[in-house]
Amino acid sequence: HAPASYRALLEMSRFHGEKLFLVYEDEHITYEDHFRRAATLANRLVDDYGVRKGDRVAVAMRNYPEWVIAFSAALAAGAVAVPLNAWWTEAELAYGVSDSGAKVLIADAERAERLAATGVPMIVVRGAATGGARTFAEVLGEITADVTLPEVELSPDDPATIFYTSGTTGNPKGALGSHRNIGQAPMTVAYGMMRAATMAGKDPGAAAGARRVTLLTVPLFHVTGCFSAMTATMFSGGGLVLMYKWDPEQALRLIERERVTGMIGVPTNAWQLMSHPDFGKYDLSSLVTLGYGGAPAPPKLLERITESLPDRAPSNGYGMTETSALAIGNGGADYRAKPDSIGLPVPVVDVRVVDPMGAELAPGEVGELCLRGPNVILGYWNKPEATAETFVNGWVHTGDLARIDEDGFVYIVDRAKDMVIRGGENVYCAEVEAALFEHPAVDDAAVIGVPHDELGEEVGAVVRLKPGATATKAGLQEFLAGRLAKFKIPVHVWFRAGELPRNPGGKILKTRLRREVLGTAE
Ligand code: ATP
Ligand code: MG
Repeated sequence: HAPASYRALLEMSRFHGEKLFLVYEDEHITYEDHFRRAATLANRLVDDYGVRKGDRVAVAMRNYPEWVIAFSAALAAGAVAVPLNAWWTEAELAYGVSDSGAKVLIADAERAERLAATGVPMIVVRGAATGGARTFAEVLGEITADVTLPEVELSPDDPATIFYTSGTTGNPKGALGSHRNIGQAPMTVAYGMMRAATMAGKDPGAAAGARRVTLLTVPLFHVTGCFSAMTATMFSGGGLVLMYKWDPEQALRLIERERVTGMIGVPTNAWQLMSHPDFGKYDLSSLVTLGYGGAPAPPKLLERITESLPDRAPSNGYGMTETSALAIGNGGADYRAKPDSIGLPVPVVDVRVVDPMGAELAPGEVGELCLRGPNVILGYWNKPEATAETFVNGWVHTGDLARIDEDGFVYIVDRAKDMVIRGGENVYCAEVEAALFEHPAVDDAAVIGVPHDELGEEVGAVVRLKPGATATKAGLQEFLAGRLAKFKIPVHVWFRAGELPRNPGGKILKTRLRREVLGTAE
């Protein structure tokens, strides 16, 4: 089988033997434990469920150790692992199952209930099995020390995973990743984290070596959790601390208890950790790295870390489901010098910025960011048109507007779909939002395009004020006038009492927001 495969990673991880791999609440699972359970399950999938190379095995659960075991087992059996979004409703889960054509489902009790109607054979984790389902323990049966992985021939370009994108700009798409993609991800991430730590004068072994203990604050069913945290930890021989769900106080407790050396999640996690009223009560001295990405990280976050968690190595990673997680990263001295940049591409990745015709632009010019490298997936599952549009001559078109400076540092300007074009002038929502956030009364803000007969679009803003704060439309416009060109200032302002619609990854759902405030169709 292919050396650059998850199977190889799994076999390699066994050499760590009795070293701690997974922590969940009071459960501690060693590398040997994990290997035996994964290998046993892989054999059961082949023998009891008839899983053959290329068949899809879906995993739908919270961040339990069984998630990792099920994922490992599916890949070891030569199947394509399909992590399903645990936040999905019954209808969305049904879509994931039928779209992927999953042959077996491995789900926790809550997901099992939502998946029951699909009729697909199911293995239930942490709960009773009803209908024709079996429990995880039943399926595993006796676990022996001499268990080996089932035989299967794999090559690097064979499909390995279908991760669904976050669905920020439309319906989630199944991203078909290969064994090569999985194989390279841990090295890419280790490189980025070690570089960030070393530049900050910190121990690279605690960042991405066997001394690491990583607290994962986001789900395993997205590539950040699975690749940047889980497979990267496995590669290094470190420990991975899992949480049932994100909770800043629980995170503080776990950092102290497990002597966590690094946290991986979205920018909001780091922010909320430092904002917790009991932040100062916990011993966080073990913490060396703070890795975040997946959504824009405002420069204010770095300032805040410098104040509240000084002498650490923060890093901002840019990646997408289509690039198997990390592709561009900023850390250490670079990050301090250019806090608004997502940094430099990891060594195996090429980047460029192109105009709408696909021609490469000069440094400083804003266009669509494109990436190329062994981390770029095979394409979208079942979506030939979207695949042809997004993957062109080996380059993935990210849908993100960016510029690259003279030193090669990349800056995300906006999502292309978010940009407002007002009478031919581009208005980047992210820029207007950042200016709104500077207003002391503003708690949250999102900028959207509002259809206009003459101009095509006008700028509109949906604003949520801080509790007890007041502001008027005219007041906000006046505030922005000191910061932005006139054409960028929102003509329409909607004040909103409730939360803005975000997906659980923290990204604002602009299509939904537009529909809510404008009554427009999707
Ligand atoms: P969909 O493709 O379904 O609309 P999505 O693009 O949000 O959803 P993901 O693959 O989870 O799905 O996210 C990738 C996107 O997240 C990138 O294209 C980019 O817009 C954003 N992103 C990721 N990391 C960063 C970062 N460090 N800074 C700014 N934006 C980021
Ligand atoms: Mg996307």
